[in-house]
Amino acid sequence: MRVTAAFSRLLRLEGVSVRGVVFEPGRVVVHVALRRRRLVCPLCAFSTPHRHDVRPVDSVWRHLDLGTWRLQVRAGLRRLVCPTHGVRVEGVPFARAGSDFTRDFEHLVAWLATRTDKTTITRMVRIHWRTVGRIIQRVCAQELDPNRLDGLFEIGIDEVSWRKGHRYLTLVADHRRRQIVWGAEGASAATADEFYEQLGPERCAQITAVSMDMGPGYAKSTRANAPQAVICIDSFHVAKLGGDALDEVRREYWNELRTLGDQDAAKRFKDARWALLKRPENLTDKQAVTLRALEAAGGKVARAYMLKEALRGIFAPGLCVDDVGVLLTRFCSRASRSRMPSFLRLARTIRKHRDGILAAVRLGITNARAEALNNKVRLITRRAYGFHSANAAIALVMLTCGPITLQPPHELHLHP
Ligand SMILES: [Zn+2]
Repeated sequence: MRVTAAFSRLLRLEGVSVRGVVFEPGRVVVHVALRRRRLVCPLCAFSTPHRHDVRPVDSVWRHLDLGTWRLQVRAGLRRLVCPTHGVRVEGVPFARAGSDFTRDFEHLVAWLATRTDKTTITRMVRIHWRTVGRIIQRVCAQELDPNRLDGLFEIGIDEVSWRKGHRYLTLVADHRRRQIVWGAEGASAATADEFYEQLGPERCAQITAVSMDMGPGYAKSTRANAPQAVICIDSFHVAKLGGDALDEVRREYWNELRTLGDQDAAKRFKDARWALLKRPENLTDKQAVTLRALEAAGGKVARAYMLKEALRGIFAPGLCVDDVGVLLTRFCSRASRSRMPSFLRLARTIRKHRDGILAAVRLGITNARAEALNNKVRLITRRAYGFHSANAAIALVMLTCGPITLQPPHELHLHP
């Protein structure tokens, strides 16, 4: 077998013939030529037999590594005039428009990005993290199911931070399919308006329930765009407020200890933070001991802890909406009598959103699975810190939690 024939089989690039192979330090350069004679626009389906000029455009793509060698594909391309897109370099079947990488390479990077951390990817594939961001945006744009906004009935709208300094994304989840179906930068009523606008009046009218946090923005937009939908408050957002209220009491108490000059006690108490905030079943032995000591000592921190746990217990699976209603009333009166400002505020917030909280329980749309998706999204967006654009962060969320099935390149090709 000749070298060119061998490389033709190795590379499995669609629609090209291998013309030559050159070994350079650290990389193999494979020169290829397109087999088709017609020129195709890289951005649409337009094709023509006529080239714009005779000057060839040297183009280079990185392909999957060959052992430890980087592999570079080179071709001299022609230019065409597309009636829609003007003068363009012709498209190739093995790479996306505007990319310096082959499709196989991009698929590998996208697949890795959903499964492993930044350092592993950039070191193994030898590209910058921002390049990963650009690649996954291209893969996402092409692989995302275009019908994903059809048939939405019960949805969740939530904000998630994608970068330090209060940079947020708004993400929309389809509760039935348990997927993220839409995302955009920002976390205001205007961002939710963008979503409803894209959905259009017909699909908006189909929505029966929208779950969200207790902020005013998403509710305002939902009432305006899908007035028939029941607004539900995600129970994990409510439970989280219990943790926040407890943390405020803990910090206050810690500051009192420090002001009193009891540095040792203050230090010990600071370490107790995780013992207080974690679920009791997830505590380490040492944290469990700390917690028991705090409970035994009594005082406001212990009372705050009991309130936080009581609130969390209300949303345990299996309780019917009537039970939850009674327990919420009882919780609010206990919290109001607690003489702790953060719990007084919490009781007011819960009373204000009582209908929405109970609606979520009645419809059963915010269950453990919705929380699991929420947690997965938070894990993924933490990995997206370091991307330069919100769109790269959204692409990562979509690739991981959206209607896309990614496969590594060898699963895309059927070996003869
Ligand atoms: Zn075109």
